[in-house]
Amino acid sequence: MDAPTQQERHNFQAEVVQLLDLMIHSLYSNKEIFLRELISNASDAIDRLRFASHTEPGVEVGDDPLRIHVGVDKDARTITVRDNGIGMSRPEVIDNIGTIAKSGTREFLNALTGDQRKDATLIGQFGVGFYSAFIVADRVTLTTRRAGLPAAEGVRWESDGRGDYAIETVERPEQGTEIVLHLRDGEDDLLNDYRLRTIIRTYSDHISLPILMAGEEDEAEESVVNRASALWARPKSEISESDYTEFYKHVAHDFSDPLAHLHARVEGAYEYTLLLFIPSRAPFDLWVPEVRRGVKLHVQRVFIMDDTGQLLPRYLRFVRGVIDSNDLPLNVSREILQSSRIVDSIRSSAVKRVLRLLKEMADNDAEKYGTFWREFGAVLKEGVAEDYSNREAIARLLRFTTTKSAGDEPDVSLADYVERMKDGQEKIYYLLAPSAAAAKSSPHLELFDKKGIEVLLLSDVVDTWLVTSLQDFEGRRLQSIAQGAADLGALEDEAEREASEKAATELAGLVERLKTALGDKVFDVRSTTRLTTSPACIVANEPDIELNLTRRLRGTGAPSQPILEINPDHPIIRRLNGESDDRRLSDWAHVLYDQSILTLGARVDDPAAFVDRLNTLLMAD
Ligand code: ADP
Ligand code: MG
Repeated sequence: MDAPTQQERHNFQAEVVQLLDLMIHSLYSNKEIFLRELISNASDAIDRLRFASHTEPGVEVGDDPLRIHVGVDKDARTITVRDNGIGMSRPEVIDNIGTIAKSGTREFLNALTGDQRKDATLIGQFGVGFYSAFIVADRVTLTTRRAGLPAAEGVRWESDGRGDYAIETVERPEQGTEIVLHLRDGEDDLLNDYRLRTIIRTYSDHISLPILMAGEEDEAEESVVNRASALWARPKSEISESDYTEFYKHVAHDFSDPLAHLHARVEGAYEYTLLLFIPSRAPFDLWVPEVRRGVKLHVQRVFIMDDTGQLLPRYLRFVRGVIDSNDLPLNVSREILQSSRIVDSIRSSAVKRVLRLLKEMADNDAEKYGTFWREFGAVLKEGVAEDYSNREAIARLLRFTTTKSAGDEPDVSLADYVERMKDGQEKIYYLLAPSAAAAKSSPHLELFDKKGIEVLLLSDVVDTWLVTSLQDFEGRRLQSIAQGAADLGALEDEAEREASEKAATELAGLVERLKTALGDKVFDVRSTTRLTTSPACIVANEPDIELNLTRRLRGTGAPSQPILEINPDHPIIRRLNGESDDRRLSDWAHVLYDQSILTLGARVDDPAAFVDRLNTLLMAD
């Protein structure tokens, strides 16, 4: 390095400035959480050092015991948090402390309202972290050295949290990080030793490393403030609800309380402990592929690594917490995890327990489950396709909006649906549509509404996969009402069947003429009993579902083999049956077709031609 102590000033990324400002104002009423955040980071840094000491040549845990120090200097008006964890290199400081790399940052900032209470909730969802130091400090100095780098490559970072920061390379004999907060005017209450101990016990008691503070009388007399034992290893009777909550906030990097947790010590062929949480809000990166999962693997209480997909399946990626095995080796690698019988066994029991926890929530607290479903339902749906062995259990957890739902909230389970099925109804009917609004107003529902038959309204992107992989529930087939001929089986009576056959015969000529007029546009034209108030609708040819899926993903929403169905009782159709002018009939055919495409929530191929034809027909009348 040319100039090892060269000092540079860097501007914060614009988003950081915005976030800092927001944080200072909206979180002020909760200002003491800065200490929790810094201790949480210190604890993570020590966990990462332990892991790196097994995997990175040159990285070693030092001679001093691993611990976190919190110090107060009343004269200098500073609070110091120090760890002997992994530390940071100069580029790491710039990346981790000067920028926000989280995806979704822009969207997050746009969602801010200027209302402090709302913004505080949002910011919590986004994560608070290091910057919370600026709630109470007008200058923060961070000195650090990455484990494995020479003493000459320490880094000193300093900022007043406004627009920029200074960074320089310094000599630092010990690895790890020290953060000094220069308190703002008026924050002297935080210089109180007792106050700090109380804050630490309230928010950080669950940290498994010792958090030390110097004695008030004797500086050298340090004492451990927290319990310093892994929370999940303590007897349940000694853990309070708020211990669980604070632990959750640490592992999940979340600011909001969790929705539920499960804590189980399993003994048998293998011994392990699960402490798993369901968050109450979806993180911003829930839909970003390949983001880290939320469960941390420990071996005998020592952090080993973040789950990369071995511990919980993708569709449970919202679960946060800790899995601690007594049987895996401390130097376990990703490769070993991938082929480990122990891990397989832990995984399958963890999945079953999470699904059971969700079932209990659904059975006992519908409102809570409603929150869960709103945040994570679309992710859980993936499980139907992904996890064959738990398909039945997952299917019971699904919730849908149906034609019988009170509002737009998905509040109907498949079991509710089955219980309400009409006498003689054999299938579970659903309608796929590009949006909830398009589903609700679809002409395909007309016959079902008339007969009072409930229909599931599906408009999530994953729903197409869901119905292709679920196929049936408790022996009842799932059937699209926009696919194939309208066949209600035993729900149709003899008179209705006769009437529909008679109508088909009467309309045979019209059907042929419409087919000729529409040519390649349609796979077929036929008369239907499906409609009561609309003149026509589009349905998909039966084996069309795969193609339909790709279309839907491309956003056009129309099936690839469309069948135009016409309503024999509708005045337009009756009048068309006597239409002698081929030109007018052709205009009508195209208008009916395009209308039907529009009611699917899809786009017509040639909107201008549609409008032209419509106007021609309107002027003729
Ligand atoms: P988060 O902890 O959610 O990642 P933070 O804002 O708390 O977000 O911290 C940002 C990053 O800064 C951390 O991910 C880590 O890489 C780094 N960092 C913060 N504090 C320390 C520390 N004491 N030791 C090492 N790295 C740290
Ligand atoms: Mg943090």
